[in-house]
Formats: sequence, structure tokens, C-alpha cells
Amino acid sequence: MTDHTHADTLRTPIVAVLGHVDHGKTSLLDTIRGSAVSEGEAGAITQHIGATDIPLDTISGMAGELIDPSDFDLPGLLFIDTPGHHSFSTLRARGGALADIAVLVVDVNDGFQPQTEEAIDILRRTGTPFVVAANKADTTPGWNPQDGEPIQKSMEAQSERAKSMLDENLYEIIGQLSDAGFSADLYWRVQDFQKNIGVVPLSALTGEGVPDLLTVLMGLSQRFMKEEMAIDVTGPGEGTVLEVKDERGFGATVDTVVYDGVIRNGDTIVVGGQNEPIVTEIRALLRPRPLAEIRTEKEFEKVGEIGAAAGVKIAAPDLDQAMAGAPVRVVRDRTADQVIEEVKAELAEIEVETADNGVVVKADTLGSLEAMANALREAEVPILRAEVGDIAPRDIAVAETANQDEHKAILGFNVDLLKNAESDLENADVKLFKNEVIYQLVEDYERYVEEKQRAQQ
Ligand code: GDP
Repeated sequence: MTDHTHADTLRTPIVAVLGHVDHGKTSLLDTIRGSAVSEGEAGAITQHIGATDIPLDTISGMAGELIDPSDFDLPGLLFIDTPGHHSFSTLRARGGALADIAVLVVDVNDGFQPQTEEAIDILRRTGTPFVVAANKADTTPGWNPQDGEPIQKSMEAQSERAKSMLDENLYEIIGQLSDAGFSADLYWRVQDFQKNIGVVPLSALTGEGVPDLLTVLMGLSQRFMKEEMAIDVTGPGEGTVLEVKDERGFGATVDTVVYDGVIRNGDTIVVGGQNEPIVTEIRALLRPRPLAEIRTEKEFEKVGEIGAAAGVKIAAPDLDQAMAGAPVRVVRDRTADQVIEEVKAELAEIEVETADNGVVVKADTLGSLEAMANALREAEVPILRAEVGDIAPRDIAVAETANQDEHKAILGFNVDLLKNAESDLENADVKLFKNEVIYQLVEDYERYVEEKQRAQQ
């Protein structure tokens, strides 16, 4: 358990960006980073591995009259760089979500779409506070905002036609949020952002409304972190693996988001592995070099220690069996065995039920494997084997042993077919399905089964 001796230290909240494909998640993250950099101050942003840190000073510079930095105890906001509810729901910290708060991006013209609904379900299930970015407000005909004005003033300055079109779209979104069980309103009418979801009309393209969004995020985080997140930021480091990557000169490394405590070079760590927890000693903690130096120097610099919340690459022996989505824990103040038990207990929460017969499932992280398993259970598709990782020759051999034809199939979520498995697949009577959207993957497989059954009749 975390001791709360340092409860006054609020750590940087971890923010995820979710929403339907093409609604503007990537553009929003780019714009937040871009306008932070163009604030021009040194240290306007810090690039992390897998995340970007925007310090409070920069946010207040961007937000102008909207923010009084002395109102905040938070150091800033750490945005996870990979957008999408897939990465959000599969990144956990001690059973909960890795991200503390979320931005749900909704295209004002398009409203709620299937992945918006999925994201809402996940946010509800994990109890994650969120803000809605009603994106692409600039596409409203007649939209003519004043440069640098807060979005509320910009909206008042619109033509009557633009105003009523935008209003109609925004109230549609507010209505859809209400159907989903959330009370929501335009953000300037919201007093308590934990009780009511603030909707921020904005444009990721022009940047209008982005300072307003950051302001609302700061307000929401400040309260949430104070109430829920008394964290001992000096204790033994805890994190979640984003990705396992081979890095020249370092071998297998794990890109990790540290959500609690401190990780130091030389620390002994326990990392969740394919077969069992890995115990190893950190050889190097790596961060990207400052932006200006990239390309002229080596890509990474070594740091002595890193405190939550941060993204870092950990180089250590024996990490090749590490699993994306698995926990990383520093062994300090406890024995390695105690930490191993903790990691095992955490992994046991992510359970995938398998049967004697069924399909083979491969996914990129533990959390996505679990999400796949849930979706398949609902569709009543049994699973023979479920594993994290790319599709290897062994998976094809296993799928071939299925004794029903429709089960001779591999469902790969966000993974690749390894080069050395290509010819095996060609020669085997095994069907491969790959997709980056879970429900599409399941639908593709169900359609295939239906066709197969129809052909047999
Ligand atoms: P993602 O799939 O949610 O990450 O969406 P992207 O950020 O890739 O955006 C999808 C498309 O919408 C791209 O062509 C963007 O240029 C466009 N787009 C994103 N935000 C805006 C916006 O605020 N206004 C307009 N007009 N287009 C936008």
C-alpha cells in the first residue's frame, strides 16, 4: 500500500485522449504539443517516452486570462501520446486505469459513433473523470472567431446562423451524454466538473478552444488528484509497460509509464513476463534528448532517476519476455519475493478463460487480450489459446490442432504476422483475421463462420 506521508505533493495527472476514429484525437494532441512549443519558453514541454509533459507555466501561458497559476498545486499535465480508447483501456495501474483523467473527442458534425459509445462505457466502468472536446467547431459555416479569444467569446461573436448550427450540434452531444447517463453542459455553465461533464467546443485545426480545454482539465485534475490521489511520490517506483522494444546497444527494453514513486538507475525491478515475473537490475534509464538535439546526437540520454508521473525507457537484462501492459515494480523496502507475489496477484486479475477447443487469440497488450476475451465471450466464441505478442509459427501449429474447422482460426488484435510464420500460414488450413478494432475483428470472424455454415448446408 502507498503510505500517505507525502499526501501534499500532487503528482502530475496522466491524461488520455479517446474518441471515434477521425474525430481528431491525433490532431488535438499535435495542437496541444505544438502550441506549447510555440509558447517559446525553454522547457515548454518535456518529451517523455510515450508521453508529453506540459508544465503548469506553459499551460497558464497558453490559457492567458483563463487561468491563474497560483490556484493550482499541480505541476502540469502528462498526456499519453498514443490516442484511442484501445490504449486507454489496456493500460492499467493496480487494477484501475493508468490514465487519471480523459478527454473524449467528439466531432461536432458527427456526434456519437460506435467508438464514442465504447469509450463512454470504458470511462463509466473505470470511473475515470473526463471532459468532452467537441471538435471541428471551425467547420460550422459562418464560424468566424476572434483571434486569441476564449471560446465562449468566440461563440458569442459568431453569425446567428453559425451560432444556431453549432448550438444544435452541441446540444445533440449533450443529449447523447445524458442518454448515456451523464449530466453534461457547455463548460462555462459547469461548476463541478466531477459531477457534470464539461463540453468544450474547439478546433484542433485552428487551436481555438484548446486553452479552454486545458483550463477545464486543470480544474478537474486539481480536485480529483486532491481527493483521490494522495500519492507518495518518493516511494519505490511503480509503472506499466507500454511496449517492449529492441534498442540497438541495449537489447530488449521496456517503455514504461511511471505512475507512482521513483525509479533509479541500478534498482532491482520486477516486470510481468510471458511466463513468470522477471527479476532484473536496471542498466540504464533513457529519455529522449531535448527536441533541438534530436538527429544530431544519439536519440536517448541517460538519467539517474525518474519520478512519477513520467514516461521512460528501461534497459535491463532479460527483458525480452516482458509483456506490454504488465506491471513494473521497484524492489525497495521489501524482498524481491514479496514484489513477485504482488506482480503475480496483479496479473491474475487479468484472466482469460480458455477451453479445450476454440480459436487462437493474439493481442498487443495484456489489457487488449482481456478485452478481446470479453468480446469473444459475449459472442460465444470459445478460446483455445490467448497470448500477448505477434503471430508466430507456433500459433499456426496450435490453431491447426482445433478439431472443428471454424476454430482453425487466429484472431490478431493490433499485432503482426511474423516473417518466419508467413509460409507456415500459406501451407496451413488456418484462417487469419487481423484488425485494430475489436468489434470489427469479432464481426469479421462471425461473418466467416456464418458463411462456412451456409456453405455446408
Ligand atoms: P483521429 O483518428 O481521431 O486521430 O483523427 P485525426 O486527428 O487523424 O483527424 C482526422 C481528420 O480530421 C484529419 O484529416 C484532420 O485534419 C481533420 N481534423 C481534425 N481536427 C480538426 C478540426 O478541428 N477541424 C477540421 N476542419 N478538421 C479537423
